[in-house]
Amino acid sequence: MCGVFGAVVPGGEPTEAAAIATLGLFALQHRGQESAGVAVSDGEQVMLYKDLGMISTVLDERRLPSLRGNLAIAHCRYSTTGSTVWENAQPTYRQGPRRALAIGHNGNLVNTRDLLTQLSGGRSRLPASTDTELLTALLADEPATDTIEALQRVLPRVQGAFSLVILDRQRVIGVRDPNGFRPLVLGRLAAGARPSVSAAGGAVTGLWAADDSEAGWCLSSETSSLDIVGAEFVRDVEPGEMVILELGQPPRSVRYAEADPKLCVFELIYFARPDSYMEGRNLYEVRRRMGEQLASEHPVDADLVMPVPDTGAPAAAGFAEASGLPYREGMYRNRYAGRTFIQPSAGLRHRGVTIKLNPLREVVAGKRLIVVDDSIVRGTTTKRIVELLRKAGAAEVHVRISAPPIFHPCFYGIDTSIETELIAASHTEAEISDFIGADSLGYLSIRGVLAALDLPYDRFCFACFDGNYPVPVPYDAARRKFVLEEAVAAR
Ligand code: SF4
Repeated sequence: MCGVFGAVVPGGEPTEAAAIATLGLFALQHRGQESAGVAVSDGEQVMLYKDLGMISTVLDERRLPSLRGNLAIAHCRYSTTGSTVWENAQPTYRQGPRRALAIGHNGNLVNTRDLLTQLSGGRSRLPASTDTELLTALLADEPATDTIEALQRVLPRVQGAFSLVILDRQRVIGVRDPNGFRPLVLGRLAAGARPSVSAAGGAVTGLWAADDSEAGWCLSSETSSLDIVGAEFVRDVEPGEMVILELGQPPRSVRYAEADPKLCVFELIYFARPDSYMEGRNLYEVRRRMGEQLASEHPVDADLVMPVPDTGAPAAAGFAEASGLPYREGMYRNRYAGRTFIQPSAGLRHRGVTIKLNPLREVVAGKRLIVVDDSIVRGTTTKRIVELLRKAGAAEVHVRISAPPIFHPCFYGIDTSIETELIAASHTEAEISDFIGADSLGYLSIRGVLAALDLPYDRFCFACFDGNYPVPVPYDAARRKFVLEEAVAAR
């Protein structure tokens, strides 16, 4: 996961780029809650502020006055390589002999250990233990005079998933890996009234130009954050493409590798916001159709359909419509607690379920429930939910999952990197049903996912469902989240 945002904002207040990048990042909070940061450039120097915590605590109004410049990038982190420590927060920053660079990265590299051997001075030169820090160091060291040329030399050596926003003194650059595992979109700050992003709020601060050469531009992980900053979706950054944003110029495109699109299908099933669009599809609609498919594949006689809030809601709505059963909200979700799946430790995850979800007794007591969720990873969360519903008086609990079983770990940006954490890797569906305490369990098939997407299989990565990894994964390196910390210990 991780959320990235970039902005090039001509004119306006000196802190407007940082404010827009922060505002855009707020719409990406669901993608990572461990740390947040913003880097800006005023054309002469790159400045950075980052810390551990949620965006609203890290990037409050007091930070803005020092973040001056027309260029900004922002990042919120969900760790897949390296621990949750301040040093590993992003954007990264490095001053090299030829350039100063800051980078925000969504994804995970699979040849980190190999790349480390290419860094002169090795691990001791890295202040942090993330694959992004290593990539930043390699780019800053690269003797090419220009950042674009440095990227063209370094990126072909990099394997895995990376959607990057890169800031140097003069530019914001968006980069997507050749498979485009993680999304990245280009937006144009809409011509007309410029939305106020000042702390005071409300006042219109100026006009965006209708002319592309004077316009403001954004890069973001998801289209929903373009909506929030008042930007129009222009297009996806293509797999294998760099999009270069400079003041006073329309965006430039440089292709550095041939595209072989394999967007993570889980982005559409679960990760991204339902108000975002991917592959031309609204994700709420996609998930609702997955619920319809699920109802046709796993019908069951029951009294009502309810979601596991919030992410199971669109599929539950589709299931209810297709099966002709009433839809009810059977659990209250405390929205002030973090998302269970992206909490970094098992202890926190378990506590998270109980503080986050509380059954509505009036809705569930005495009822035969169909409970729709979007995934089962370890099974412990679903088990706890079933327990809570039974304790609240549910007569039957039938669990329906709007994704196939997860048999294989992800190495491209989701922290499920050990097979033993995945319940489906070692248990049959009947065993999982027993473990979670359900009356029945049904998963959507890959065929059902594709029917809901109405797109061909080969446009997507389905590796955690079928083991067909688009980029080979070296066993000894990529299966270790703490590969760079281990490199220190081994010295
Ligand atoms: S392995 Fe699964 S979660 Fe990872 S990129 Fe592929 S589809 Fe997405």
